[in-house]
Amino acid sequence: MYDIVIIGSGPAGLSASIYAKRAGLKAVTLEQSPMSGGQVLTTYEVDNYPGLPGINGFDLGMKFREHADKLGCEFKNAEVLAIRKINAEAQIKESGAQLRAASIESRIQEEMKEKEEAGFVLETDNGPVRTKTVLAAMGATHAKLGIPGESDFTGKGVSYCATCDGAFFRGRVTAVIGGGDVAVEDAIFLARGCEKVYLIHRRDELRAAAILQKELMSLPNVEILWDTVAERIEGEGTVQKLAVKNVKTGREKALLVDGVFVAVGIIPSSHIMKGAADCDEKGYLIAGEDCVTSTPGIFAAGDIRTKKLRQIVTAAADGANAITSVLEYFTAG
Ligand code: NAP
Repeated sequence: MYDIVIIGSGPAGLSASIYAKRAGLKAVTLEQSPMSGGQVLTTYEVDNYPGLPGINGFDLGMKFREHADKLGCEFKNAEVLAIRKINAEAQIKESGAQLRAASIESRIQEEMKEKEEAGFVLETDNGPVRTKTVLAAMGATHAKLGIPGESDFTGKGVSYCATCDGAFFRGRVTAVIGGGDVAVEDAIFLARGCEKVYLIHRRDELRAAAILQKELMSLPNVEILWDTVAERIEGEGTVQKLAVKNVKTGREKALLVDGVFVAVGIIPSSHIMKGAADCDEKGYLIAGEDCVTSTPGIFAAGDIRTKKLRQIVTAAADGANAITSVLEYFTAG
């Protein structure tokens, strides 16, 4: 039985591993992918993590993991399939025969209370894991546009990761869809190798940080299509055309592109938590800065929880706050 199982090894999970180890908790971090780091791994350059200006995302992810390894944090490769509160009633029935009849009622009640607080079983593809508390730090995945051609051409010109796939489009024409930090970072990254990059944004104002916008505007091979939405992706075998429409004028046109990079936000990876703790309408686990969810013993850290600012530094901060709350949970009467 672990004191805490941390699900996910992005900045929030790795920071929590470090804090849990230092607090003397019996902890394990479960990771689904073969490499720690989460979304950071596919970030080309991180320029807002204090003390490490301009660090490559992959290197930052590796540094987090090295730190955890140096402290002797435990990791296990496992995909969590379901979370189950330990079934108090079933356990009581098993031991019921040994209870003396006279005190059975009160003892059952006492034991129920104890067992209710006892914890959780995580069903994983690598066997069950029992724990007193759970920290959900599974982060988020890429949102899809849902337009015709998107799924047909995924991996054949449609991508959700410029740093992973950008090199295939060297000297070619690409389009990035979105107006947030990721879209602008992707456009900047692609502009280094592509002949031309279109940035397609549905409004007349970008959401991305001002410093990124400034860099983007200085690039001669980037053209921004304002108030424009992507309607269709077409091609033969691979992407050849992106049909777009100006939402103000209604005018449509086809852009001849070899690649389409979709960067329209993130979706929290919270599906296994449904029913285990309350989520908001977008699927984010409802938790404040203390990372405490609606279910005693379940905590949430990083991009998966309701918060204003989703960045590496705030995810890492969540890991620390979550472990503080776990310690409070253990010490509270
Ligand atoms: P985001 O900030 O939510 O931006 C998503 C963008 O996609 C918005 O511009 C949005 O348009 C647009 N969009 C959403 N749905 C669309 C649709 N169906 N069709 C067309 N456009 C659509 O998401 P993100 O850029 O992936 O970033 C995710 C989080 O990570 C953010 O909190 C971000 O700040 C953070 N992040 C931080 C850094 C950093 O600190 N260096 C780097 C990367 C990401 P509207 O603007 O009109 O809503």
